[in-house]
Formats: sequence, structure tokens, C-alpha cells
Amino acid sequence: MESKDLKFEEVNEGFNIKEAIDEAKRCLNCKNPLCVQGCPIEHNIPAWIHQLSMGNIGDAMSIINEKSNLPAVCGRVCPHEKQCEGHCILNKKDKRIRVGKLERFIADFDSNMGLIREKLTPKTRGKVAIIGSGPAGLTVAGDLARDGFNVVIYESEPEPGGVLMYGIPEYRLPKEVVRREIHKIEGLGVTYVTNCIVGQNITVDEMFDQQNFDAIFIGSGTAKPKTMNLPGNTPRGVIQSSYFFRMVTLNNNGSVGRNEVPVKVGDIVGVVGCGNVAMDAARTAIRMGAKEVYIIYHKTIEHMSALQTEYNEAVDEGVQFLWETNTKEFVGERGRLKAIKAITNEGEKVIPMDKILLAIGSQPANRIVSTTSGINVDERGYVITKERPYGMTSRKGVFAGGDVVNTPQTVVLAMRDAKKVAAGIAQFVDAKKLLEE
Ligand SMILES: Cc1cc2nc3c(=O)[nH]c(=O)nc-3n(C[C@H](O)[C@H](O)[C@H](O)COP(=O)(O)OP(=O)(O)OC[C@H]3O[C@@H](n4cnc5c(N)ncnc54)[C@H](O)[C@@H]3O)c2cc1C
Repeated sequence: MESKDLKFEEVNEGFNIKEAIDEAKRCLNCKNPLCVQGCPIEHNIPAWIHQLSMGNIGDAMSIINEKSNLPAVCGRVCPHEKQCEGHCILNKKDKRIRVGKLERFIADFDSNMGLIREKLTPKTRGKVAIIGSGPAGLTVAGDLARDGFNVVIYESEPEPGGVLMYGIPEYRLPKEVVRREIHKIEGLGVTYVTNCIVGQNITVDEMFDQQNFDAIFIGSGTAKPKTMNLPGNTPRGVIQSSYFFRMVTLNNNGSVGRNEVPVKVGDIVGVVGCGNVAMDAARTAIRMGAKEVYIIYHKTIEHMSALQTEYNEAVDEGVQFLWETNTKEFVGERGRLKAIKAITNEGEKVIPMDKILLAIGSQPANRIVSTTSGINVDERGYVITKERPYGMTSRKGVFAGGDVVNTPQTVVLAMRDAKKVAAGIAQFVDAKKLLEE
């Protein structure tokens, strides 16, 4: 079966104003709202849905702003069926309120209309550096800027956003939406320094000594992809999906040519792994014109870690699945991938492939900790942090949060952790200033 001709337009449609208000009116405004319990950042969901149901979109947005710096993102990519919507009392009757789509509607409407202009707080409480501008870094930045801190974000990539910009594909999360959220955070007084690799262009010590930061937050994610240790040399054509996503984003925004994207039109592509990242890699390969795309997984469908919705959409788009297929060797010819050798329940097979995309997980890179003394990490490289002040590492004044501490999770879990770390940083800097006085 050949894959479909798909492009990068957003696949899930949003509500129009009538649909949004009608949906909001269905909310029962429960006394004991289970949706709030299901939300990792405990959004006051019934309150903002109630405002929306009366047409007060600005008021709805103000309530959302109390908890989240990234509503247009969360409205699109949170696993709502497991969180707010999964907990909704109406879910029992299969009539759950579409909380995610409502959040997305309010955030998009607010941006398009320029409804809310938040009051800028004077930046008098201290100076904080953030390393990394993914959901964790952006959340710490937004929360601290609102609370009167001067915040500078250092980001190694040309544009801020982390996985939101260079990982999650355009058809699920348009990059213009990410840029809008980043711009809003900039509007709170946050400064971005891009193309700056901490540990190479500047060190943590230099940030303290030369830039006079009171605290530094590390939100550098899990940039180091895991590899497969198979016998023989790895032929050209075996590619990390993170690299593939990055090149697709850069190609879509015009920064690199089509020939820099490692999947070519007509390729037969195999994706090793069966989580959400593997689904994204497969669906992106289809959009880059791959002729056939296979997800290669050594277990059965019951063990797949991808969300059911992600799997269903991949199947709809023509992705095929090789279950119980354990890759044993990459077969190359003159250094270029030709096939994989795999053990299947029908014995050993040689399966022709032009490209393999690896989507088998990632872990922290060690560039920052290896150039900074005193930051303890565990045996896999995850930064170890304290409960008090929340998020501080073994080095005084250096904090960490998000995936670099908690292993790869989700956008909203990185945000939840980051919100607690922001409070920990504020506590630390206030105490430091008091002692200095
Ligand atoms: C393909 C893909 C799809 C996903 N889809 C979803 C989804 O649909 N829903 C969901 O909830 N979650 C999803 N996730 C997971 C989610 O994106 C992550 O859990 C989240 O982005 C982690 O946030 P973070 O801020 O900790 O790290 P990241 O988003 O990884 O951000 C880290 C940032 O730090 C920067 N950085 C690293 N080292 C340095 C350095 N030395 N100097 C300067 N900057 C540095 C990086 O460039 C990056 O911008 C997905 C992940 C991937 C990979």
C-alpha cells in the first residue's frame, strides 16, 4: 500500500465562535470539578469555561493566564483524553466537554484579537538566567517575569520553543502558534538570547561572575537520542528522528533546502519504536513523500506506548505496522542502507528499507553539567534536585526542571514541574537579597 499525499496543514480543526460557546454551555460547572483534578497544573477549568459560555473571552483568558503560559500549545498537544477530558463527569456518557479545543479557541482568539494586555511588573526582585526555551524554560520565565524578576533565556537553537519548535510536527502544532506564545512571554519582559550554547559559548560560572545572575535554571531537556547497538557499521540512512524533525522544521521555515531533509520522495522508510514520537516520525515521513512507511516494533500492539488517537491517525494516513519484528542488523551496500534483517514470528526476514528513523528514546546531554562544577546527576545523566528550595541542584543557586530532571514526559508535566521550580527560585533569590542587605 502506498502512503497518502499529505501536507503540513494542521490536521485537527478548531471551534468557531458559535461552536465554542455552544460547547461551553454544555459544561455542568460541577461543585467538585473532576476535570481540575485531571489537569496536572490544576487549571480552574469550570471558571474559564463559564466565562466563555457568557461570551467573556477576555475574562476566560485572564483566568487561564493565572496558571498557564502556553494555552494555545496545551489546547493542541496535551493528552486531554487521559487528563481533563478523561476525568469529565460527562465522559461516562461519552459526551465529555472538549476542554482542549475550548482552551485552544480562547488562546487563539485572544492572540488574533490582541484582547489581553498584561500589566508589566517592575523587574526589581532579581536577575534569573534560563537555559533552554522548551515548555519548562518558558514556564519558569513567564512565571518569574510576572512576579517581578528580570529574566534572560539562553537557547542553543536559532528560535526559542524547544521540542515545541523543533520536535512536535507542524501538522499537530503549527509553528506560528508556538511563535505567538513565545512572543507573548517576551511581552512580559523576558529577553531571548538564541544561537547560544551554554557550556560552549558561555558557561554557568561566567553567567554568575560576568552577568550577575542571582539564580540559573537549567531546562535543557533530553537532547541526546538513544542509539541501537547492532553488529557492524551503521550504514548511511539510519537517522535519529530528532534530527529528521529538526531538518523538516528548518526546511518548512526556509532555513535549509529540501535536499537537507534525510527522507526523499519515493523512499521506503522504517521507524523503529512505537511511542508517540514514532507516530510523529512516520506521519512526517509520509508528508515528505515517502512511498511506504512502516513502524517496526518488537512487541505486539497491546504493548504500544503511543496514544490510541495517535495510532488511529497514523493508520488513517497509511502508516503500516510490523508487529513482533525485532531488528537485528542494518544491511548496507557500499555504506548505504538497503534493508534490515529482523526476527519475526515467521522467522528471520530481510526487509528492504531506504531509510530507518530511530524513535527509541532520549536522555540528557552532558554539555552543561560537564562544564560546571558541583551539579550532581544520576547514572543516566538526569540532574538531581532538592525539595527545598524546590528544584535546586547540588550547586547553590542553580536550579533544574522539566525533562532534564524527570525523564522524557509531556509538555504539561514539564510545565507543572517548572511552576514549582519558579516558586523555589523566587524563594531563594528573595532570601539571598535579604541576606545581602
Ligand atoms: C517528537 C515529539 C513529540 C512530542 N509530542 C508531545 C505531545 O504531543 N504532547 C506532549 O505533551 N508532549 C509531547 N512531547 C514531549 C514534550 O515535548 C517534552 O516532554 C517537553 O518538550 C519537555 O520540555 P523541556 O522544556 O523540559 O525540554 P525541551 O522541550 O527539550 O527544551 C529544551 C531546550 O533546551 C535547549 N538546550 C539544550 N541544551 C542547551 C544548551 N547547552 N544551551 C542552550 N540551550 C540548550 C534545547 O535546544 C531546547 O530548546 C513530544 C516530544 C517529542 C520529541
